Amino acid sequence: MMPAGTRTGTRNETWAQQCPLCGQSNGCAVAQGLPAAQCWCMTADIDPQALQRLAPAERGQRCICPACGRAGPATPNPGD
Ligand SMILES: [Zn+2]
Repeated sequence: MMPAGTRTGTRNETWAQQCPLCGQSNGCAVAQGLPAAQCWCMTADIDPQALQRLAPAERGQRCICPACGRAGPATPNPGD
């Protein structure tokens, strides 16, 4: 997580198109100026644990990428 004050600019297109968890392109349709209905997140099951990793201020503000939004083998699952 970036400490407050690290960001040098305002919320721009790059910011909106980056996954806040991994920094890769989130593929968000809205950020690309497309209808929200075309966004991958509309048809995908988002891992609730991924959303919990977002800073409260960023929930609902930024889209995460498909890799982070879907539960996968890369996510450790303690207690299994
Ligand atoms: Zn991501």
